[in-house]
Amino acid sequence: MPEKTLFERIADREIPADLIWEDDLCIAFRDINPQAPTHVLVVPRKPIPSLDDLSEEDGPIVGHLFLVAKTIAKKEGLSNGYRTVFNCGSDALQTVPHIHLHLLGGRKLGWPPG
Ligand code: 5GP
Repeated sequence: MPEKTLFERIADREIPADLIWEDDLCIAFRDINPQAPTHVLVVPRKPIPSLDDLSEEDGPIVGHLFLVAKTIAKKEGLSNGYRTVFNCGSDALQTVPHIHLHLLGGRKLGWPPG
């Protein structure tokens, strides 16, 4: 068995996190180092390392992550808007090699990102 990723360990309750969503395909929890009043990570149970590793068969999973992000944004009251981000690879500062969708909102966000 390959070693579990950090986010698999969160899904398996081996590492505590503020979990706000759970279903068959994904979990969502608050980022430990929030960059906005709402900063949630939506993570598939399948440990796909990054966007670069996605295959055609993963399309429904990725679609599901966005639908969950939209639902959470509504629950969090982000009626003025929000941002969703997949960081991919070292130039984008991806630090956890288990694909995750950042959901950021609750303040005016800058563009372009740093
Ligand atoms: P990345 O830089 O890979 O796109 O995003 C990884 C995110 O995971 C970062 O925003 C970081 O703060 C968050 N993170 C790293 N370790 C933990 C943890 O143990 N718990 C939680 N809740 N978030 C984490």
